[in-house]
Amino acid sequence: MLLLDGREVSKQIIMSLKEEIEEYQKKGLRKPSLAVILVGEDPASKIYVRRKREASEKVGINSICINLPSSISQEDLVQEIKRLNDDDSIDGILVQLPLPTHIDTGEVIQAIKPDKDVDGFHPENVGRLATGIGRGIVPCTPLGIWLLLKHYKIDAFGKDVVIVGASNIVGKPMSLVFLKDERATVTVCHKNTRDLKSHTSQADILVVAVGKPKLITRDMVKEGSVVIDVGINRLENGKIVGDVDFENVKDKVYAITPVPGGVGPMTVVSLLVNTLHLYRLKHGFPPHLFAQI
Ligand code: NAP
Repeated sequence: MLLLDGREVSKQIIMSLKEEIEEYQKKGLRKPSLAVILVGEDPASKIYVRRKREASEKVGINSICINLPSSISQEDLVQEIKRLNDDDSIDGILVQLPLPTHIDTGEVIQAIKPDKDVDGFHPENVGRLATGIGRGIVPCTPLGIWLLLKHYKIDAFGKDVVIVGASNIVGKPMSLVFLKDERATVTVCHKNTRDLKSHTSQADILVVAVGKPKLITRDMVKEGSVVIDVGINRLENGKIVGDVDFENVKDKVYAITPVPGGVGPMTVVSLLVNTLHLYRLKHGFPPHLFAQI
């Protein structure tokens, strides 16, 4: 079994991004910069934001964290985003999700200028990814998975790819990535899928992004397949596990991602890639190689 080591691959990408930023600075260009908006005090969100900030600093991206109270109004949050849209020194804007329930997340995402939308969630960027028209931003988790597969020379060309989970941040954009780059045959499963096993057991590449420990058991995977586990679940004993029963699945498949240490680090590194991609476009450079599907 091949362990798809996101920690190691992300380290290699981080090294190359660091060198790239050093080159820009030698040319007298300013550092790329990323603004992260955190609304409220959600502990998990705080951890994610801290990780993003640490990774940014490691490569030389200037990271600005804007902490806003959970009581902030929709209008004030949108105003803050507009201020960042108009600030020429900011390349990427990220609003950490989830937002408090009184805020309309869709409206907030649409307030971000598409060419600063580092998460690739704006409908304009989703549309570009879906149609191949224009230069869009690929959401970080699907981009990270794609980079991980490329690193291990796993191609999906013409293969049967099954994605479990159809969220806007993982499942749906992941399906578009496989359709666009690899011309794979893609199936997307969700809560209403009638017989999940009948789909997953046919998958040459299985991507699982649901948030349910042990949803995918040994009998549900195809022998010799590639399994990408996106799920992050904290058990009662504090242990972090994915959605796949890793211990029982691992010796049946060709390759699998661990949790933690698989998709997570690749998601963070993709945020850096997307920030650099936006920075490059702003400076009239060609798109970033790692950001192109
Ligand atoms: P989400 O928005 O809650 O979406 C979950 C998806 O799973 C939905 O499409 C839902 O179907 C589907 N689903 C729920 N129960 C199912 C079942 N029994 N069988 C099949 N599909 C089912 O979650 P998300 O934001 O995509 O995140 C999914 C998981 O990935 C979470 O554990 C999250 O923490 C993790 N995550 C990890 C990373 C990373 O970097 N490693 C990044 C993002 C997310 P419906 O559409 O029908 O509701």
